[in-house]
Amino acid sequence: MDEHLVTIARYDNNFEAELAKNLLEDMEIRVYLLNERMMGIYPTTAGDMYYIQLQVSSLDEEKAARILEELDDAAFASQLLSANNALLDGHFLLTSGRHSSAYIEKIRILQSPGAASLLCRKIADRIKDYELDAIIGPAYGGIALAFEVARILDKDFVFTQRKDEQMTIRSGFDLSGIKKVAVVEDIVTTGGSVFEVITALETRGIEVVVVAALVDRSGAKVDFGRPFEALLELDIPSWEASDCELCKQGMALVKPGASDKK
Ligand SMILES: [Zn+2]
Repeated sequence: MDEHLVTIARYDNNFEAELAKNLLEDMEIRVYLLNERMMGIYPTTAGDMYYIQLQVSSLDEEKAARILEELDDAAFASQLLSANNALLDGHFLLTSGRHSSAYIEKIRILQSPGAASLLCRKIADRIKDYELDAIIGPAYGGIALAFEVARILDKDFVFTQRKDEQMTIRSGFDLSGIKKVAVVEDIVTTGGSVFEVITALETRGIEVVVVAALVDRSGAKVDFGRPFEALLELDIPSWEASDCELCKQGMALVKPGASDKK
């Protein structure tokens, strides 16, 4: 068989292209990334567009394509969060007093807006087929994410905040045209604040048709009574200090700076 290079995927961002490349190279497939310039053929396309072509040998084409199929949203989100040190492996003391082998430093999700935006594109993809007037973000973690998802889907953006213990829609927003919305949250643990947001919106006659999050830490246990789209499902294990294997191994215990509670 005549061996030649074939393009098996195209990416418009470096992170995704490198992630795919690393995944394939781990499986001992030789990968070439090529910058590709596509002329805008439609008058609405401003300027040229650039894509990154991922090429492999024609002999590896089938195997490589199969591997890339496994690069789903969860793998993407997990790799991206790890790359930005938002998803940490180690030995952590949680605010509950329990010990854990993993920790999400969620503020770091927002520290790299480019990376956060890539995650928001995945969320936008998941909810784009719903009929929506606006995207709602609970303060503070959901604000930047909901804003970016709203921008991508060309919808309105609104945020909620806790005021005198009560979850409320930030005053000043014009809600007159808003009937159906999506709630976008960073991390769902018990779902408590999302439930409060749903109630706050419903009392104003606004229907929440879908909930989306970057990470579902509930172990897929939370039920919002409507579709829930999470890029990544994590069931992070934790133990009483007296039962902790990592303590027994003598691994140093880290107390993360930010609150783990949500
Ligand atoms: Zn421990």
